[in-house]
Amino acid sequence: MHFRIQSLVAFTFFLSACVSTFTVSDNYEAKMGHTTPAKRTVILFLIDGLAPEILSNQLEQNKLPELQKFFALEQNKFATARTVFPSLTYPSITSVLTAMPVFAHGLTGNKMRVGNDNDPDVVDFASPLSITKVNDLIKGKTLFARLTAQRRQSVSLAHYFYAGATSSIPLDLDSGIAYLDSNYTYVDTKILNFFEALLTENTPEQWPEFIFVHLTGVDFLAHELGPMASVTLDYMHILDNKLKAVFAHIRKAEMNGKRVVTLLTADHGFMTVKQQFDFTNYLNNTAPTVKTVVDTRFAELYFPKNWSGFERQTFLERLLKESPVDMSVQRLDNDLWLNGPSVQTKISYVGTRCPGTPYAVNFNGNVTCPEDCPSHPEIYGPFFVPNIASFFFADKHPDAVVIAKPGTILNTQNKGEHGGATAQEVFVPLLMRNATLSHPERTLPSYEILRFVDRTSEYPVKLGP
Ligand SMILES: [Zn+2]
Repeated sequence: MHFRIQSLVAFTFFLSACVSTFTVSDNYEAKMGHTTPAKRTVILFLIDGLAPEILSNQLEQNKLPELQKFFALEQNKFATARTVFPSLTYPSITSVLTAMPVFAHGLTGNKMRVGNDNDPDVVDFASPLSITKVNDLIKGKTLFARLTAQRRQSVSLAHYFYAGATSSIPLDLDSGIAYLDSNYTYVDTKILNFFEALLTENTPEQWPEFIFVHLTGVDFLAHELGPMASVTLDYMHILDNKLKAVFAHIRKAEMNGKRVVTLLTADHGFMTVKQQFDFTNYLNNTAPTVKTVVDTRFAELYFPKNWSGFERQTFLERLLKESPVDMSVQRLDNDLWLNGPSVQTKISYVGTRCPGTPYAVNFNGNVTCPEDCPSHPEIYGPFFVPNIASFFFADKHPDAVVIAKPGTILNTQNKGEHGGATAQEVFVPLLMRNATLSHPERTLPSYEILRFVDRTSEYPVKLGP
């Protein structure tokens, strides 16, 4: 999540035309007449940009007593899940909400080239004017939509992701203005007020099957000030206090026999920015025929159509020597060519089906399912092979990507960024109440977190305390 200021101005005007007085709970009640009451309610809190180190820092200082108690965190320990490549808000939250990896839902970045290859447009999903575009792209694929098709109810308390939900929050002028003022407490508090109204104005028997709560203040502050800045860390303490009321309503319903499963996770971690490199300018000066879409920590590349594989590879090797690029990957037919900091290697798609992917991979001569592939986290970052293979298997993928060195960004002026493949960016916390992981030794990919909600099989999350 990250807004540019000029977009925010547009956002405010856009919202002013759409102010509505209905509350989410009114809207929800009106729409639930024809659906099946939920035997169980699953609540997902997604705290945008909540890196494990932010959570650990505040837990260790006893600044998060509500989260600590509600999720029964012993010795402040928590499980981690892993996000997708790129570790950016739109690919990642889409993966969580569709329960699909990147290749299956197709959102490969916060920015994407769309339209004709010869004259493409770049859509920036993080622009408020693109909210409906994002939701149009994902609408048939969300968990919300699958539940609706099963006549089960869901509510989205998120400004950017709602496609297919029974009910969602109205567009809100005051939140648009609060974003402009960097008043993120206001924006998150308002979401939590909607949530509290939903929980109190409906009986627990009427609560929907699934509630998505997207809180964005941590992410905005971590971009502006850095993930470990005191204001960012303190904000988690503020949020913890604000969660007290909703946690009390959930506890009370549970005591009266309601089944509630509560999860808390994030869409990506963060990295403190140490160095900026203007990649677009560098390309304009050195290789103006190569086109790029720069997305903070990584950039997509599109080569001239007449370039041979050899010309592309030579160009990428030079890039690694001359710029703060750490790694490049290009797809040629069924091969991914990786130029890493110290090694060059190849991953090939092999046409054997694996659980969850229509392909296996051949990596250094070993054919395995991507999830089982030894990923060499010390070279590429954790789970890089399954993540990059999924990215390049999407219908709309670039010719190549480059990832900047740790701490380096390829555009923007922010103090904190993400999008790359390092452990800091890829791992996210996963807190659960009334559920445990079936295989705690396995690091769950974000697209599996909600798979149990609309399936008969409860793998990979085991329900019950
Ligand atoms: Zn995010």
